[in-house]
Amino acid sequence: MFTYHEYEGLMWSCSDKLPVKHLFSGRLGGVGDWPYSTNPDPDWETVENQKRVRALWQTLFRGAEMPERVCLTHQVHGNLVRIVTEADAAFPPLRVLPPDCDGLAVGEKNLPIAVFTADCIPVLLCNKAGTAAAALHCGWKGTAKDMIGSGVAAMRELGVEPEDICAAIGPGISRCCFETGGEVPEAMAALLGADADGCFEPEEGVPGKFMVDLKEVNRRRLLQLGVKAENIDVSGDCTMCDRENRYWSHRATKGVRGTMASFILL
Ligand SMILES: [Zn+2]
Repeated sequence: MFTYHEYEGLMWSCSDKLPVKHLFSGRLGGVGDWPYSTNPDPDWETVENQKRVRALWQTLFRGAEMPERVCLTHQVHGNLVRIVTEADAAFPPLRVLPPDCDGLAVGEKNLPIAVFTADCIPVLLCNKAGTAAAALHCGWKGTAKDMIGSGVAAMRELGVEPEDICAAIGPGISRCCFETGGEVPEAMAALLGADADGCFEPEEGVPGKFMVDLKEVNRRRLLQLGVKAENIDVSGDCTMCDRENRYWSHRATKGVRGTMASFILL
């Protein structure tokens, strides 16, 4: 079950399936059009904006009682998960882009890791003993490239077997809004085989279009890899449906948007 939290105009949700500190941020309380931005665009990097970005992150970290440092990604819709250490920690606004990857994993205490999404599906993993965690950015391309498989492999590398993994699939575009061409269901079927049954359906009255449940695809991939159903939580929130009140939606804004961040730490 997910619960909502608010602090000084910011909002986020947490899952009771994850026994360690984590959050899925919403878009409220952001800085102009760029909440949680780490965009190093020179036009953006005015001293004034840097101060506002830093203040925003500080407020979020204070509200969530996290240490003021974080490991971040430069996401490329791939399937690489980096295992990070204290040496990777920084605090926004960043001076240089982090390495390309779509997921992070950590085995050290007190080191927050985060991924960014705005319709794509954020997935957070940890184990009950709290010795390893991962944050994954699962858009349809990353999902098709088995981002979940990379995340589970990283957890294994940190000493955690799939049956001990707890997973929270966060707010993202849901079946109600994720209309695609045939390439997406095809890729999901290639990933899941027969388990893809029911994860998508032809859109009524629109030839060649499908409605796809990307959260369910990621849930089923976790199950295929040995994560237990009772250890998986799925947010019911659709970022596109709830774009007014809670979330950024890449589709709804045609890309003119800020971004949400999903954090986890041990
Ligand atoms: Zn929707």
